[in-house]
Amino acid sequence: MGLAIAEHLATTQPASFSILLLEKNSAAGQETSSRNSEVIHAGIYYPVNSLKARLCVEGRRLLYQYCAQHDVPHRKVGKFIVAQQDEEEALAQILRNAAANGVEELTPVTTKELQRHEPLVRASHALFSSETGIIDSHAFMDSLLWRAQSAGVQFVPNTTVTRVTPEGSHFVVSTTSGSHGAEEVFKFRCSRFINAGGLHANDLATRIDGLDQTLVPRLYLVRGCYFSLNGKAPFRHLIYPVPEKAQKGLGIHATLDMAGQVRFGPDVEYIDTIDYHVADARREHFLQAVRRYYPALQPEQLQPDYAGIRPKLSSPEAGAADFMIQDASSHLLPGLVQLFGIESPGLTAALAIAKHTGDLLEL
Ligand SMILES: Cc1cc2nc3c(=O)[nH]c(=O)nc-3n(C[C@H](O)[C@H](O)[C@H](O)COP(=O)(O)OP(=O)(O)OC[C@H]3O[C@@H](n4cnc5c(N)ncnc54)[C@H](O)[C@@H]3O)c2cc1C
Repeated sequence: MGLAIAEHLATTQPASFSILLLEKNSAAGQETSSRNSEVIHAGIYYPVNSLKARLCVEGRRLLYQYCAQHDVPHRKVGKFIVAQQDEEEALAQILRNAAANGVEELTPVTTKELQRHEPLVRASHALFSSETGIIDSHAFMDSLLWRAQSAGVQFVPNTTVTRVTPEGSHFVVSTTSGSHGAEEVFKFRCSRFINAGGLHANDLATRIDGLDQTLVPRLYLVRGCYFSLNGKAPFRHLIYPVPEKAQKGLGIHATLDMAGQVRFGPDVEYIDTIDYHVADARREHFLQAVRRYYPALQPEQLQPDYAGIRPKLSSPEAGAADFMIQDASSHLLPGLVQLFGIESPGLTAALAIAKHTGDLLEL
């Protein structure tokens, strides 16, 4: 989000602004943005008029344009959503929701058509989304950083924001920089401050003086593990089951990356601390979930791969929460925008979120 926002502001705003992009790690994109499915979502599932729905549909259109203009590797591979016997009504509901969200090109397909395209997939009903694609997310982030820097953004790695103090119409931002015990403290003033801290955004918000802390939502860390499939890809499209109840995740699906590698995931596991370990013991759970639509899968074909962690705003018992993007209309601190709960489809929506953030800043 930080990269997309910096690129957007630097390329659309007058040169009178100087923009600092502060990153606590040694490089950009080492956390959630490099631990996802790299799917460009069509915008099918999210509640009508939610930020997720609006920003996903707009973001997807912007992202395809951006990729074409700036040579970011991507492919509109398309995805099948496959339903089993008892899921026919759920599939019909998905189709209605997608239409209400303005999603183009989502069509029912017969099992015969599905078999023709994906002979190894089992389903009794299916939809095909031709607008769904895949992207090289690292190339996308590199491109955003390069364009932002070329337009004057200063990227400052190894620098953690530790405190933000409003002072008149400005913010005093305190940071620590450096690593290996040689840390230095810096302070600077700015007229706008954007908190796009991902998994740490909620914590950072607690370090903003004068911010009404009742507005800072509770963060739930929700790990999603992936298992990769050994050998040649058995599918040519992305294969998604009907989403799990209460939309905690989209269900353990099959994705392809730009190199043609098939991965299954992500599953859903509420955890207490940031921990990216993928336990081999989850193999059985993956096997059962995937065999519903790909019965030929054998346990030894699955290899534990990577995990990502969703910054969710809803408890295990509650329904799915929307993105939460706060500006002065809620917290009364002009110039401050905060992004909370930017889970999927955040990658797809990134360029639209950047535009939306720019609009909220009223530059
Ligand atoms: C398992 C999984 C699968 C997903 N799949 C998809 C998908 O297929 N398609 C899709 O559209 N979306 C997907 N997403 C969502 C997408 O990955 C995220 O929405 C997006 O990457 C979030 O980006 P971000 O910039 O908010 O967070 P991050 O990428 O985590 O960036 C936040 C940055 O802020 C820095 N930071 C934090 N605190 C501070 C501080 N105090 N000082 C300085 N720097 C700080 C961090 O170091 C980090 O680099 C998925 C997410 C997960 C977890």
